[in-house]
Amino acid sequence: MRETSPDRVFIFDTTLRDGEQSPGFHLDANSKLRIARQLEKLGVDVIEAGFPISSPGDFEACRRIAREIRGATVTALARAVKEDIDAVWGAIKEAENPQIHIVLSVSDVHINRKLGMTREQVLARGAEMVAYARSLCENVQYSPEDAGRADPDYLIETVETMIAAGANVINIPDTTGYCLPYEFGELVRRVMSEARGSSAALFSVHCHNDLGLAVANTLAALAAGARRVECTINGIGERAGNTSLEEIVMLLNVRQNKLGLECGVVTKEITRTSRLVAELTGTPVQPNKAVVGANAFAHASGIHQDGVL
Ligand SMILES: [Zn+2]
Repeated sequence: MRETSPDRVFIFDTTLRDGEQSPGFHLDANSKLRIARQLEKLGVDVIEAGFPISSPGDFEACRRIAREIRGATVTALARAVKEDIDAVWGAIKEAENPQIHIVLSVSDVHINRKLGMTREQVLARGAEMVAYARSLCENVQYSPEDAGRADPDYLIETVETMIAAGANVINIPDTTGYCLPYEFGELVRRVMSEARGSSAALFSVHCHNDLGLAVANTLAALAAGARRVECTINGIGERAGNTSLEEIVMLLNVRQNKLGLECGVVTKEITRTSRLVAELTGTPVQPNKAVVGANAFAHASGIHQDGVL
């Protein structure tokens, strides 16, 4: 047994935003609310309810979730423009613990080709929008999009600038699922140790599964010091999906003695949550999927019991 008590990892569920964004996964407001209620029972720390500027229906879904959910932080996504931030704040301000989430690219390929901006312009825009969001809400998360393919020095400068502007959570995304676990862990370690002011912020990661490494990359980031994890139920999400909540949570549980990490998820609610998301999205879970697949379930219950014992 470990002598020190385990470190807390915060679970950020983005099933209703990144998961819902992928083609074929549309959820109406009632379905989103049902999933949010189940996520509350599951004990996640943060629920990302949606992308309010995207449609009046999504704005309304976010507003209903923010009004009803208690315990978990409720957040929603904004690009680094005032209209998006106003829409997020309009939708989530009635939450018990609201958080505004701002995303803006950090890789040159995105900055030049997608935004048609310079690095300096992106830094200035990001800082201005973080400060604006902070004037509305105490909790502001900044995600430098495509961090996995960015120049690390510019990424570090970005993180410093956004913390100075008022961001209290920095989320490092591997947007295209490109990184190897040791590269991604090293990137997170470097940013956390070299960015001035980083001890004032909570570090989070958001990994995609294009090469099947989302969970491995997330675990590498936790080993490097990140303490918040963005993930989705059944690993749904754009393209090959996101880090699967059930896999990362069961890893933390089953290997707690080795990892020295714990989270607040109620593991006995995992199967119910997985089934609800599969039903409401109309997308069944592959039978051999780790932890929640039909063939894996008996085994998962077994390892869970061992973990409890
Ligand atoms: Zn994503």
